[in-house]
Amino acid sequence: MKNSVIVVGGGVMGASAAYWLSTLGRQVTLLDQNEVPNRHGASGDQLRALRLAYGKDVFYADMAAKSLPLWLDFCRQSADPFLLQNGFMDLAVQEHGYEEHCLKALRELKSPCVVLGKDELRRHYPMINTRAVRYGLLHKAGGMIWAMRALSAVLNLAQRRGVKVKARAKIVAVQRSGGEIKGLKDSTGKTWSAEHYLFAPGAWVQEIFRGWRIPVEAIRRRQLYLCPPINRGRYRPEHFPPFSIASQGFCGYPLHIHGFMKIAESRRGTVVKVPGNAGEEAEPAFEKKCRAFLKKFLPELADFNEFEGHVAYYSATKDGDFIIDRLPGAANGFLMAGFGDQGFTFAPLLGRAAAQVLVGGKSDINLHRFRLARF
Ligand SMILES: Cc1cc2nc3c(=O)[nH]c(=O)nc-3n(C[C@H](O)[C@H](O)[C@H](O)COP(=O)(O)OP(=O)(O)OC[C@H]3O[C@@H](n4cnc5c(N)ncnc54)[C@H](O)[C@@H]3O)c2cc1C
Repeated sequence: MKNSVIVVGGGVMGASAAYWLSTLGRQVTLLDQNEVPNRHGASGDQLRALRLAYGKDVFYADMAAKSLPLWLDFCRQSADPFLLQNGFMDLAVQEHGYEEHCLKALRELKSPCVVLGKDELRRHYPMINTRAVRYGLLHKAGGMIWAMRALSAVLNLAQRRGVKVKARAKIVAVQRSGGEIKGLKDSTGKTWSAEHYLFAPGAWVQEIFRGWRIPVEAIRRRQLYLCPPINRGRYRPEHFPPFSIASQGFCGYPLHIHGFMKIAESRRGTVVKVPGNAGEEAEPAFEKKCRAFLKKFLPELADFNEFEGHVAYYSATKDGDFIIDRLPGAANGFLMAGFGDQGFTFAPLLGRAAAQVLVGGKSDINLHRFRLARF
């Protein structure tokens, strides 16, 4: 019991925290309601973009810069190059917008970047309509993470260090007394006990913590997979990086699954009470919205014929910042939640920080911004 930790949630946050807890000498059991890994959680997708700047928010840019070497180390340890540094592109529609702040942040952090004017954009990315775009900002050290592969790699590394993984263990009740968690009940009635508990349940926070008033919402987000109707080779990852046009609320990814690429909403999405099935079909109106976006910015893609619209779920807070903190009224409980649509990038860093605090140490990044008391 002493030095034991139960981690609830086998997404990228739970897996990373479990890995780091094991490096700190803890006996870790990781539970998930589904298979481990699974495609239901936010981490269970093919691809995640790794951007290195977030507008004015230099704190997040700094965290991304600190996460990058940790990801590369996971690649090295697992002998799986699941991180491809093919760059990340912000496309600016206006002169003094979000992208200008990103440029400032990248320069401040000495992260390699390049501004591509219209001529350069045309030369390197002839699919982009440069009448609609002013310039591109390429985060050169950014790129994309093959998410499922990355998650599997972290889980394997954790298991190699002795982390026990239990699939299909759905926690339905948190048993508390005397200001501490005494055990977790799963849906079969079994009780799981440890010295400490770390929860990383993604969009299912409210299901576990009913009545706890944890200010996290489940969000539904739409994405469309499409097969480029012409010039398919141009959209391979080595030629075409993941990109975002923040002002339009869209982002996109190169070809990555059976000749399909992905276009996705990058605005908040719709709040739902309970997450549905990841992968369920998006409504036909979304296809129209994607076509209109592509017609303006990537016109040769707008006439796609082969496509599939899907939804995915993630958890988010109202202010957009994460929650990484001890649970109120449960001194031995810790919560990691609200990672929105950017969390994957930071998983190794945040998992390490959470593990450090949980064992009573000091985290090597400042977690003040992620405390629950801010609400
Ligand atoms: C469409 C979309 C696009 C995104 N794009 C990017 C991107 O480009 N770049 C980026 O960095 N990030 C991106 N993100 C965000 C990133 O994917 C998430 O922030 C991250 O994966 C969250 O990981 P997690 O471990 O917190 O949650 P999850 O991956 O959702 O994992 C939670 C796990 O907890 C388990 N669980 C829940 N309840 C219970 C219970 N009661 N008992 C047992 N187990 C339970 C679930 O089964 C699940 O496996 C995107 C997210 C989405 C949805």
